[in-house]
Amino acid sequence: MRKLPFFLICLAVPSFGLSAQSEGDDPVKTLVGRLELEKYKATIKGLTQFGDRRQGTDRNRAAVDWIEAQLKSYGCPTDRIKYTYDPPPNTGRGRGRGNTGLAQGGGRPRGVKTPTGVNTDPMKQPDEKLRALNMQPTMPGPREAVFCTKVGTTHPEEMYIVSGHMDGHGWGEAANDDGSGTALVMELARVLSSPDVRTERTIRFALWNNEETGSQAARAYIAQRQERQGKEDPPGSGRYPEPKWLGMIQHDIMLFDHGMPKPDGTISKEQRPEADVNVEFQVTSKMAADAQKLAWILEAANEKFATDYPATVGSHMTNTDSGPFMDIVPAISVRENERGVHIGNGWDPQWHQPTDVYATYNDKDFLLGLNAAQTTLGAIGQLTGATLKK
Ligand SMILES: [Zn+2]
Repeated sequence: MRKLPFFLICLAVPSFGLSAQSEGDDPVKTLVGRLELEKYKATIKGLTQFGDRRQGTDRNRAAVDWIEAQLKSYGCPTDRIKYTYDPPPNTGRGRGRGNTGLAQGGGRPRGVKTPTGVNTDPMKQPDEKLRALNMQPTMPGPREAVFCTKVGTTHPEEMYIVSGHMDGHGWGEAANDDGSGTALVMELARVLSSPDVRTERTIRFALWNNEETGSQAARAYIAQRQERQGKEDPPGSGRYPEPKWLGMIQHDIMLFDHGMPKPDGTISKEQRPEADVNVEFQVTSKMAADAQKLAWILEAANEKFATDYPATVGSHMTNTDSGPFMDIVPAISVRENERGVHIGNGWDPQWHQPTDVYATYNDKDFLLGLNAAQTTLGAIGQLTGATLKK
């Protein structure tokens, strides 16, 4: 038997000893360890029982109720944003991008591009039960979105917003867009609401509605609450119904990074080994410098806490609920791919399609979403000063 070279013994022994000790004392690492792939999958599966959860339908309202019941069961006190969605006829989300040659959000598209769009044909859904579930049309009128809050111990007046959107469309189950981001936020609410967890600062977990029609819930939240930030109410109570916004982290489409379409337009069947969590800020926003700092905090948290996939920072955040926040507060999005140059170029063939159903994805896909959850939980745990009661 060969002897171990002397230099290896010298290197190995002290480093193992140090890392075991420091990691064991890190409460954020303990919290990240409480995320579980099977729980994350079960929450996505639970959301898909309401089909595509299209805004303005009974299935959407039932999903809001179900999400609220889960959040309450985690010990996270809930509230709702109420607003009215009454769109003029024949307006969609479409925004012209001019003739700049750039993707939405400003990035330069490269390589193979395949067409994208929103499926509006029920007959493209082969599953008759799912087709029937998604059949009720959307109607204008009152809307609600649910959030829950973990109040900080020493700085209840300051808050991070961690969010996803629970509505979808396209005649599937909106499993990835955005069941995957909704479940991620719910999982973070579950872990951080555990009775032995304290955070110095407040965290709000928001599940926006109406993202797919132009982020009306996020816009209503800002309109109703921006002016109330940081105000103690009633005075002397120590309660802050709307703590000052320190940052906003949106999660939208978390699972599928199978790479660029091949020249024949098809996509690899497997998660690519280089799959990454894409953290984006918007370089043209008023808060770009601080949003970029927040993005790099997530990247560092990924290095420290994520088990499998790395994180990449990009500068072209677009088309999700962090958009309305980006000139007010440092706001970033976390996704499977960059929204503009990747998803907009056809990297996610399920996007807004009947194939965005739970059964489409395998564990390597779900694991990318879990790694995004580890990334945000690691960052938010550090930013809010999370500790564990002994
Ligand atoms: Zn989405």
